[in-house]
Amino acid sequence: MWLHAESKYTKISFECKEKWKDMNRNQLRSNGQSNGHIAQVERQPKQVDYPRLLALGRELLLAIGEDPEREGLRETPRRWADAWREFIEYDPGTLDTCFESISTDQMVVVSGVRVWSVCQHHLLPFWADVSIGYIATDRILGLSKFARIAQQYAHQLQLQEQLCYQIADAIERITRTPDVAVLAQGQHLCMVSRGIKTPAIMTSSIMRGIFREKHEARMEFLRLIEGNHA
Ligand code: ZN
Repeated sequence: MWLHAESKYTKISFECKEKWKDMNRNQLRSNGQSNGHIAQVERQPKQVDYPRLLALGRELLLAIGEDPEREGLRETPRRWADAWREFIEYDPGTLDTCFESISTDQMVVVSGVRVWSVCQHHLLPFWADVSIGYIATDRILGLSKFARIAQQYAHQLQLQEQLCYQIADAIERITRTPDVAVLAQGQHLCMVSRGIKTPAIMTSSIMRGIFREKHEARMEFLRLIEGNHA
């Protein structure tokens, strides 16, 4: 991960500040890019039904014509149940530790946060490298929290686009800034290992507030994360 405290952008932001003052940010955010269709910001902690998972693991082996009692498969339902439990019951720790900001209008960018998730359409894994940027107002988010937030939302059945929305919502809520950018680039096993079987990188991004309004801010964010993706 990288943390950029960007002086060049600070200059731009001060120049533009007067123009931003009257900006109706709520109106801006309701213009087709914000929360509406995203199910949740706060992820409810989930628990697996472990005995049911064990039984399902055994049932899965039977359904694909295997013998769950044969050498090499006896422990497989348990390993499979353990893997699901580890994925679903992931504990991200404290997410919202903030520090008072000594200066405002500074762009903070963290990039290269690799998360693994599971596609909700095919129940197959995907990974994504997540970059997050925001313009600090009065609160700076602790560095490790970016990764924790990204990991929290990755540890559920997911879509890459929804993952970006949920991360953006959380950053916006915790840092109290409307200026948030999230970009994810990922590879999906449902595309690589089945179906069309073509390796491809999928990119999805959310640009809010100044990142949506100002070309300079958007380009600065993209420049800072350039080269930090797979
Ligand atoms: Zn899929």
